[in-house]
Amino acid sequence: MHHDPSVTHTVGHLIDGQIVADAERTQPVFDPATGQATRSVALASKATVEAAIASAEAAFPAWRNTPPLKRARVMSRLKVLLEEHADQIAELITAEHGKVLADAHGELQRGIENVEYASYAPELLKGEYSRNVGPGIDSWAEHQALGVTAGITPFNFPAMVPLWMWPMAVACGNTFVLKPSERDPSSTLLIAQLALQAGLPPGVLNVVNGDKLAVDTLLQDARVKAVSFVGSTPIAEYVYTEGCRHGKRVQALGGAKNHAVLMPDADIANAVNALMGAAFGSCGERCMAIPLVVAVGDAAADAVVAGLKTAIAAMKVGPGTDNGNDMGPLVSRPHFEKVRAYVDSGVAEGATLVVDGRSLQVPGHEEGYFVGACLFDHVRPGMKIYQEEIFGPVLGVVRVQSLQEAMRLIDEHEYGNGTCIFTRDGEAARYFTDHIQVGMVGVNVPLPVPVAYHSFGGWKRSLFGDLHAYGPDAVRFYTKRKTVTQRWPSAGVREGAAYSFPSSR
Ligand code: NAD
Repeated sequence: MHHDPSVTHTVGHLIDGQIVADAERTQPVFDPATGQATRSVALASKATVEAAIASAEAAFPAWRNTPPLKRARVMSRLKVLLEEHADQIAELITAEHGKVLADAHGELQRGIENVEYASYAPELLKGEYSRNVGPGIDSWAEHQALGVTAGITPFNFPAMVPLWMWPMAVACGNTFVLKPSERDPSSTLLIAQLALQAGLPPGVLNVVNGDKLAVDTLLQDARVKAVSFVGSTPIAEYVYTEGCRHGKRVQALGGAKNHAVLMPDADIANAVNALMGAAFGSCGERCMAIPLVVAVGDAAADAVVAGLKTAIAAMKVGPGTDNGNDMGPLVSRPHFEKVRAYVDSGVAEGATLVVDGRSLQVPGHEEGYFVGACLFDHVRPGMKIYQEEIFGPVLGVVRVQSLQEAMRLIDEHEYGNGTCIFTRDGEAARYFTDHIQVGMVGVNVPLPVPVAYHSFGGWKRSLFGDLHAYGPDAVRFYTKRKTVTQRWPSAGVREGAAYSFPSSR
């Protein structure tokens, strides 16, 4: 990895409440709008990750015994601090990820809602109680913290996705080691520092920046009891397999290829607006983005292609620091090249390229990673642009003749993260939501991302594990159930030895 000598600031780790940095291995962090390296990030050694795990382990006994309401109050204070620092956090997201500031604020807000949910932890952790399950016997089930838990997160939501994980984990009484994306580490680290300021004791949340070495250390270390992962499917599958092999509880959320079904009776103008944001917002770098429209009938297909073509012509593409832009750059030079190669492959495989964004130039930002919105018509299953996650501003239209045919395509795809149907027909919508093999479904809602008090997760190869991220499932994931059955012998209920199985017969 080359290192730009002009880069002086190194983003470090947060271990035991202190910022530290490995000097041996670093890599540059780029501003995607200019292509310039602006700082570097320390890549943790095995020893650094082990120091973070040791800190989390040492902090666990006192934190687990801290009353849930006191843990929750840290989250309430953090919510306020995040709101107060929202501009600064959004600027860091935009500077390293590239997304438009308003969109960075949106991601942060959704993250804050998870902090808010974590502040209800005392209510969520109350457990279950049954009196008199037998003569003089009471029983209760409680949610006990696991110990040291870990999270590994992707580049595309550097603020929100970490906030899906650690606030609920620590509110449930665990301690945490977070390994964020090394491509845009600064907003994530700032948020962790704000958590300390909110009163989180040192060691309860540690952040290690790094790459595969850091991830593998977390997966192999016996002190780490559970791992939450969000990223691409091949790495999700690896983290799931490797973590389970080491006896850990793992939830690993992967990639996506979300289809929107456009029914012939849909409000086309509304669908076009919805699709523009869902396909091109954040430059298509969202796991809930819509990169495919399945149009039922040629009339719907012709109308949506015409509408999208007009809307794309009016789009503004430029640096994310200007809220007047609709779309910023892609995250990195390799990703920029990969997305353009996908467009080349779509042309080579015979799809019709209606709008070609490959040659877009943003004046003054010639070295930035900008690709204009691309629109394909006549995309067919089997094409690479149909099968694979592009994670860029490339929208394809697939033409089918019936809802059944559209649903078969969706069900046969390897991913099952999100989907949506545009229609005015309640019967069709109900049939679709009931039967489709996808975890998150929208009806005239293009990005059906569950709110913080529901849980987020795809089906098929979009999620390995069973429990979904955040919301009620997070209580289940970050705690283990203990069920206690208790009797205090007294004169009335003293019994002799019984050799048959106790029952309420
Ligand atoms: P990625 O898989 O490249 O990286 C995710 C994390 O894994 C990073 O922290 C990275 O450092 C680490 N990592 C990368 N290579 C590794 C390796 N070989 N071994 C161990 N760890 C490794 O993903 P990304 O490019 O940062 O993010 C984009 C992907 O994330 C897309 O596929 C997107 O769909 C997915 N995503 C999914 C969701 C979801 O909720 N399902 C949400 C956001 C993003």
